[in-house]
Amino acid sequence: MFTAERQARVACPDCGLVQRLPAVRRRHIAECRRCGRLLAGPAAGRVDAPLALALAALLLLIPATVEPLLRVASHGAARISWLWSGIAGLWREGFAPLATIVGAFSLALPYIYLAGLIGVLLSLRLGLRPHVGLAFRWVMRLRPWMMLEIFLVGCFVAYSRLRLVVGVHVLEGGWCLLAATAALLLAMTQLDERTVWEALPLRYERDQHGRVGPHVCQRDSDPRAIACTACELLVTAAHEGSACPRCAATLHERKPHAFTVTAALVAAAFLLYVPANALPVLTLVSFGHEQSSTLITGVLELIHNRLWPLALIVFLASIVVPLLKLCGLTWMLLATLQGSSRLLIGRTRFFRLIDTVGSWSNIDVFVASVLVALLQFGAVAQARAASGLTAFAAVVILTMIATRTFDTRLMWDAPQGG
Ligand SMILES: [Zn+2]
Ligand SMILES: [Zn+2]
Repeated sequence: MFTAERQARVACPDCGLVQRLPAVRRRHIAECRRCGRLLAGPAAGRVDAPLALALAALLLLIPATVEPLLRVASHGAARISWLWSGIAGLWREGFAPLATIVGAFSLALPYIYLAGLIGVLLSLRLGLRPHVGLAFRWVMRLRPWMMLEIFLVGCFVAYSRLRLVVGVHVLEGGWCLLAATAALLLAMTQLDERTVWEALPLRYERDQHGRVGPHVCQRDSDPRAIACTACELLVTAAHEGSACPRCAATLHERKPHAFTVTAALVAAAFLLYVPANALPVLTLVSFGHEQSSTLITGVLELIHNRLWPLALIVFLASIVVPLLKLCGLTWMLLATLQGSSRLLIGRTRFFRLIDTVGSWSNIDVFVASVLVALLQFGAVAQARAASGLTAFAAVVILTMIATRTFDTRLMWDAPQGG
């Protein structure tokens, strides 16, 4: 039913090359012949599997929210925490922006994303198509900001750190969170974006001059085409600025103001990178003794306690990835400015890497939120967020937006003077 016609003419979203997508057999993939970007994944044609898994993830997320996640006990006193306890804790301590970020990434967006995805896939199944393109565009846009799996790893790091000072147990909600995240990740492996897009109808509306537009460019003899930046539909370039007939996004040949917006975001993130690393992100109180830790001392503490794998994860996520993103984007911006043709494929691959791993830097923010929620035993053991954490979260979010606003096709245009 949803087997897509696989001779479609497509434009690679990373390098812009217009090419014919070959017929892809089951469990095979198709890559861009110029930059190696995956154009058709092994899950092509599937709708029922991602729908069932997304439903399972949503159903498991409900008990993960209402049931307690963790219980800690120290010197006869005990505390339990829920998925939302960290958000409340940060808010109470006066870190309203951090509480909002944690609340959005770990609680609100997973629900919105899963409900949206289920709505889109169910509509395809039932043959209801109006406005599904617009809904799917928003669902795909939310994906990088929905960080359930990163929150789970944050919970695990916090759990390991707590075990060093207090007794800690995983409760029903914690196991449901683990199962919900597993179902979500499985759903992601079964979801093929192009299958959904190709199952959606196109809307043709007349503009104020009575012209019907934009038309899909499928023949090789068609005039210059532009690819929708959201759903990758190839349409006639004459209609730049009008709405995409499939997903209703405004059509642009390249993302508007991509270079200047990305450069501004990277500059702001560089400035905030200094306080994010120099200022403490967390203050821990143990028997009246107060100790503030920065990002790097947090990693050293994990090493000191022989938690090597966790130390490596946190070191990569908090120190290496933000720096890689900032330096990588600066390199890409400078190379584009100079019209350089050196290492174009390498640069494009590097961009895909930093785009994929970028959101993992939020681990430290989630660790702090869990510790703040649980470690509240007065002078005996207490955790408080510190100002460096806000600067760090800002760096992560600014660099995440920068990878969204940057258009890798500009790097490929630059040497040709396009
Ligand atoms: Zn390509
Ligand atoms: Zn579109």
